[in-house]
Amino acid sequence: MCLFCKIIKKEIPSEIILENENFLAFHDINPKAPVHILAIPKLHIEGFDVVSPEIMVGMTTFIQDIAKEVDIQKAGYRVITNIGDNGGQEVKHLHFHVLGGAKLKWSHLSDSNPKKFL
Ligand code: 5GP
Ligand code: ZN
Repeated sequence: MCLFCKIIKKEIPSEIILENENFLAFHDINPKAPVHILAIPKLHIEGFDVVSPEIMVGMTTFIQDIAKEVDIQKAGYRVITNIGDNGGQEVKHLHFHVLGGAKLKWSHLSDSNPKKFL
């Protein structure tokens, strides 16, 4: 069973922010911003590449609800999902990083020349 499935089953403790029948949100153990929450489906789905549009409908409102719950929606925030090796996905259970609580940085994300693909 994967790490996040264990968190869903409460076999591994987490600081839960929001939960419903299909989704769970909890604090990232290694926060990269003052607010860093992970939103996951309770169904084990490997990543964004294989998620259905139906799950994403629920995920969208769930993430919006997280932003309201922790009061970051007015100031703004960022939603990220890492996909596969190049995306930097470490946990192979779909998750969205919800980041905020301060002005976030936005700089080069790789050492390669970004103009290469223009
Ligand atoms: P990824 O790199 O796969 O996009 O993100 C995985 C995230 O899961 C990382 O930000 C990491 O800090 C977080 N993480 C890894 N293990 C645990 C854990 O046991 N508990 C919690 N709450 N977060 C975890
Ligand atoms: Zn899983």
